[in-house]
Amino acid sequence: MTKVSTETLTIALTKGRILKETLPLLAAAGIEPLEDIGKSRKLIFPTTVAGVQLLVQRGVDVPTYVKFGAADMGISGKDMLMEDGADSLYEPLDLEIAGCQLMTAAVVGSTRPPGRFKVATKYVNVAKQYYAAQGRQVDIIKLYGGMELAPIMNMADEIVDIVDTGNTLKANGLEPREFIADISSRLIVNKASMKMKHAKIQQVIDAIGKAVEAKRKA
Ligand code: AMP
Repeated sequence: MTKVSTETLTIALTKGRILKETLPLLAAAGIEPLEDIGKSRKLIFPTTVAGVQLLVQRGVDVPTYVKFGAADMGISGKDMLMEDGADSLYEPLDLEIAGCQLMTAAVVGSTRPPGRFKVATKYVNVAKQYYAAQGRQVDIIKLYGGMELAPIMNMADEIVDIVDTGNTLKANGLEPREFIADISSRLIVNKASMKMKHAKIQQVIDAIGKAVEAKRKA
């Protein structure tokens, strides 16, 4: 990562809990923001590596920036990639951070109504595919957060959401029901950037790959 190049490489990061686990990995790969991302309101950060800059965004927007080439690379939760359709991106590395599961959940002890039922989620596409594959007919209600409220308030029979410790479900009188997918954060790359900036991108992939491996062995 010491080679100086005039070609700028932009990496879009997901803010929040993924960012907290991403920064140590990037540091181990030799890429560190020049100022404390947590203490700044800026959205673009130069790094210790000449020509490598970081963007900090909401998770839902990271695949979009990378798809459009506004960022060459990104770090995105697999849940976002499943929801967004990641066909037009490369996904070269599982970063093995921010692990959790996509699950269905419902009010403790409740039973599904016969026939069609209602599912509240921000993962509309994932939920549609999941229930269709099970041969179940559902009405999907799109929400942007706080899905746990929907069954409590009788707006939905089930939710599809991310579960880590299960504490959020439990605190709201819900229980996990069906497993949909294991989730972790992934390194994603714009396809055109991969061609145009191949050497630099490959260097970053290799450096982060080694950091992931070292962390796994630690
Ligand atoms: P928990 O109470 O530990 O099961 O966490 C559940 C909530 O935290 C979910 O509703 C998510 O919004 C959020 N969450 C947990 N893990 C992750 C993750 N790896 N990526 C994004 N959001 C997460």
